[in-house]
Amino acid sequence: IQGTIAIVGRPNVGKSTFFNRLIGQRKSIVDDTPGVTRDRIYGEVEWLTKTYRIIDTGGIQIEDQPFAQEINMQVDIAIEEADVIVFLVSCKEGVMTDDIAIAKKLQKSGKPIVLVVNKVDNEKLRLDAYEFYALGLQDPFCVSSAHGIGLGDVLDEITRVM
Ligand code: GDP
Ligand code: MG
Repeated sequence: IQGTIAIVGRPNVGKSTFFNRLIGQRKSIVDDTPGVTRDRIYGEVEWLTKTYRIIDTGGIQIEDQPFAQEINMQVDIAIEEADVIVFLVSCKEGVMTDDIAIAKKLQKSGKPIVLVVNKVDNEKLRLDAYEFYALGLQDPFCVSSAHGIGLGDVLDEITRVM
């Protein structure tokens, strides 16, 4: 295994869907209720000659924690365990307060970050990704985890910064 990737992001941005796409099997529960991922959080993804361990931090949950604290903890775990962090946001909701908080924390960590805008299901929606430049990270990658669009470019970038 060449390294560890952690996926972080607010509930419902599509972390589990993205994770499942990369590992190629439906191992993490995807639910329409924000924040529902209760089973598997570790998987492996193969890309070209490399194999990476991947963590869906949304599945790491502690009971009775306020939302903000839970995300905070997930980001801490990602920073601790990952070589590259995929920060997933959603073009459907746009930039939210929690996105800004996560971005700040990730920036402080000094870890390589790949900013991925999910739910870009068609070309027109690409325009909605521009607002994520406001997070002050690098250029966002647009993907649709539901349709499997754009994932190769993200894996190339992960390989580049790993
Ligand atoms: P998580 O809470 O971040 O793990 O998000 P989930 O993976 O559970 O997804 C939350 C919701 O977003 C589900 O209803 C998914 O079907 C939906 N979703 C995930 N990826 C996409 C996408 O690329 N496009 C669209 N339109 N919906 C998506
Ligand atoms: Mg999930």
